[in-house]
Amino acid sequence: MQTTRTHIQSRDTEMRARAARVIPGGMYGHQNAGTLPEGFPQFLERGRGCHIWDVDDNEYIDFMCSYGPIILGHADPIVDAAAAEQQSNADCQDGPSSRIVELAELLVETIPHADWAVFQKNGTDATTLCVSIARAATGRRKVLVARGAYHGSAPWCTPRPAGTTPEDRAHLLHYTYNDLASVEAAAAEAGSDLAAIVVSPFRHDAGLDQELVDPAFARGLRELCDRAGAALILDDVRCGFRLSLQGSWEPVGVRPDLSAFSKAIANGYPLAAVVGRDSFRDAVRQVFATGSFWFAAVPMAAALATITTLRDTDALVRLAAAGEALRHGLATQAESYGVRVRQTGPVQMPFLSFVGDTEYQRARLFTGEAIKRGVYLHPRHNWFLSAAHSQEDVNDALEVTDVAFAKVREAFGDD
Ligand code: PMP
Repeated sequence: MQTTRTHIQSRDTEMRARAARVIPGGMYGHQNAGTLPEGFPQFLERGRGCHIWDVDDNEYIDFMCSYGPIILGHADPIVDAAAAEQQSNADCQDGPSSRIVELAELLVETIPHADWAVFQKNGTDATTLCVSIARAATGRRKVLVARGAYHGSAPWCTPRPAGTTPEDRAHLLHYTYNDLASVEAAAAEAGSDLAAIVVSPFRHDAGLDQELVDPAFARGLRELCDRAGAALILDDVRCGFRLSLQGSWEPVGVRPDLSAFSKAIANGYPLAAVVGRDSFRDAVRQVFATGSFWFAAVPMAAALATITTLRDTDALVRLAAAGEALRHGLATQAESYGVRVRQTGPVQMPFLSFVGDTEYQRARLFTGEAIKRGVYLHPRHNWFLSAAHSQEDVNDALEVTDVAFAKVREAFGDD
């Protein structure tokens, strides 16, 4: 690993200046590198496996995996071949290709609570459609969401109020993740108007330590929804396919009524899916939900290749093993430097925070030192492992994080 290499960013600087003139704010959304420490590239040029290159040809070991979509590795040959073959026939046509049926069948076969599937493009499309389906099915309005959870950028769920009206969120009620009493209280407030409870597989709010789901909490939500005749919606957009192919709460033993998937479903090709139980089939038919690109065949061919590869190989086992090795290596290093850290969330989607780091100064220094040396980590968002992370890649990354921990120790001492 090039722990002492020069990190030149002249082309990135030039592209940022050009972007600032034609893209408001220079960049937007979660991929705005302006919010990241100095040294992070804004513009990326290519990716292979778990390695990515920026516009200045700096190479990084990628621990963000495009914020989740890359699960087998960038430019996975099997997925890209399936996509290319489909592309050579057609992608966007007057009607869907047969891939849509094959993919719906594969999801229904793979995910125990899925009796049907419908497809969209982004996670926000899928979570928003789940809410509409629940409302159509129940004829009710109120929806419970966890305080601080992210479910997308539509007016009903965006974390920023600009451009929304109070009416957009008038029927949302909030609960605290893993606190069943707070859910009961919100459900009581909703009364006979409760349409759905939306929940993520674990608490993965940006900037906070992650919190795994308490199985008793998950079971409590299931019981409450059954009692109230409301839909239990699992927002599996971020976790889906990484933790379990059957849906992220299958290992917990709780089956939702509706699940929203996107991100890793097609290894980077744009696709989202809503799956659900038979009892919601009629409601799906009533809701008018569509989009010009929702039926495109290339991402569906990519999804078929991605999910069958995950099913038929040890990819998820290797992915978790790489995550374990990373967690273990970071823990050993932090301890050796006397730097107090917390590692939370599943190893497949890890998060590292520094004790007492209220303004993220240590996290910013740590990830800023890592990026300069060729390791792409994020100071405030959970990271993602892929099946392309070999033990050797993890070891190379750990050589860099060792230096980054030394810098944190140097700057902050052991406080
Ligand atoms: N739900 C969750 C849990 C997410 O993590 C995200 C994206 N980060 C979304 C919904 C929205 O997905 P998208 O950005 O594809 O619209």
